[in-house]
Amino acid sequence: NIINQSELVSMIISQGKDYVDGIRLVQEKIKGSCSMLLLTEQGIIAARDKYGRSPILVGRGDNGYAVSSETCSFPNLGYELCYDIRPGEIVRLTADGYESLNQPGKKMQICSFLWVYYGYPACEYEGKNVEEMRFHTGFEMGKKDDIEADFVSGIPDSGVGMALGYAVGKQIPYRRGIVKYTPTWPRSFTPSNQAMRELVAKMKLIPNKSMLNGKRVVFCDDSIVRGTQLRDNVSDLYRYGAKEVHMRISCPPLLYPCKFLNFTASKSEMELITRRTIAEIEGNPDKNVAAYARTGSPQYNCMVNCICKKLNITSLKFNPLETLVESIGLPKECICTHCFDGSSYE
Ligand code: SF4
Repeated sequence: NIINQSELVSMIISQGKDYVDGIRLVQEKIKGSCSMLLLTEQGIIAARDKYGRSPILVGRGDNGYAVSSETCSFPNLGYELCYDIRPGEIVRLTADGYESLNQPGKKMQICSFLWVYYGYPACEYEGKNVEEMRFHTGFEMGKKDDIEADFVSGIPDSGVGMALGYAVGKQIPYRRGIVKYTPTWPRSFTPSNQAMRELVAKMKLIPNKSMLNGKRVVFCDDSIVRGTQLRDNVSDLYRYGAKEVHMRISCPPLLYPCKFLNFTASKSEMELITRRTIAEIEGNPDKNVAAYARTGSPQYNCMVNCICKKLNITSLKFNPLETLVESIGLPKECICTHCFDGSSYE
């Protein structure tokens, strides 16, 4: 009986002729992110999933080598990044060095959400820094935005980098109109139960009444999934005296649930505020989804207006996919953008 995912993966590996063959079987059978780290008699084997949806990085230090999914975990422990494991690649590490055990794949689909939301600001994936990317999404949005506002705030933590960029692009001040209670709260997407996720999300954000009172404020956030958390935050902001609440989102609307990562912000289409809105407009959540995904199409504009009204926001804008891709700085075909355009292959 298989009791968890690690057991399932180990069982598949054990069906191969050797470790490399077994890992290849996993890479073929598991459609999505699956980073592997195996402790063997011949060293540690690290393997990245077929299309490299999640990163694995090798660091070198005085005591040998380390493997991590986050580059920022290396420097404080005395390691330096020395290798980005390629998609589908299998690498063996020993105290003396590391070697590739196979030919890496040619295609990559690294998750764009690493930069948008769950990556740490000081990290680099494929050489592209998270905070720089977030700043750029805000800068591009601010440069083109034609509204009048007194200041911009980021919804902590992932909206902060974008808001700093927006302030520079729009040339308005950055202020902390909403602050995080403490960095010790767990990430709100981690608890498995939705009610607990919402409670954690609510508890950790505190609006600053003195700053908000009578002000027209732009808020930057990474994304909108269900919209429930944002609706609560917005009503708090009005309660604390904000005169106008403009929301600016770093990525395009989420229209397709993720099939490739385990943490998933949403498991079904109807959890997404976009699909629920399409269902209200079209009578069917799956109708014309491709048209709704095209920034600036009549369907897209109608959906964004409906979401704006639903959440009681003064105005709502999302960055287009082109800005997201340009801000990451990798070619579009190397990044998974499935959440936004349903484009990724399996
Ligand atoms: S579908 Fe979205 S969250 Fe999932 S891997 Fe692709 S970009 Fe990342």
